[in-house]
Amino acid sequence: MKIEIEAIKNFFKRPFTRRYPKVRVIPFPRFLGRIHYFPKRCIGCRLCEKYCPVGAIKFHKKGKIDFDQGLCIFCKLCEDNCPAKPKAIKLSNDFEYADKNKKKVSKNVVDE
Ligand code: SF4
Ligand code: SF4
Repeated sequence: MKIEIEAIKNFFKRPFTRRYPKVRVIPFPRFLGRIHYFPKRCIGCRLCEKYCPVGAIKFHKKGKIDFDQGLCIFCKLCEDNCPAKPKAIKLSNDFEYADKNKKKVSKNVVDE
C-alpha cells in the first residue's frame, strides 16, 4: 500500500529531470569540461603537452596545437602546470560534445 501512495504522490509532482536541451543545464562551479586554449596568452613552453598523461595535447611546428578531446580524462594537469598568467589552457564548463557541426564539436581554441 505504501508504494501505491508514493506513486500517487509522485503523479502530481513535477518531473525531477530537465527538458534538455530546451532547458539549459548549468554545471556545478568546479565542473571540468572541454579544454579551452587561449593562444594569445600562451608562451609556448609545452608543459601542458609534457604533463598530459594521455597525450591529448600535441604541439606542431609553427606553434600549431592539436587537442584530442576523445583522449582527455579531465585530470586538469595541463591547466595546473601552465605557467602563463592568466592561464593559457583551462578546463571549461562546456560538456556538450554532440552537434551537427563538426567544427563546433572539436573547438578548443578560444579567440580573445
Ligand atoms: S585535462 Fe588532463 S588529460 Fe585532458 S588535456 Fe589536460 S592534462 Fe591531458
Ligand atoms: S603550458 Fe600553458 S603556456 Fe605552456 S604551452 Fe601549454 S598552454 Fe602554453
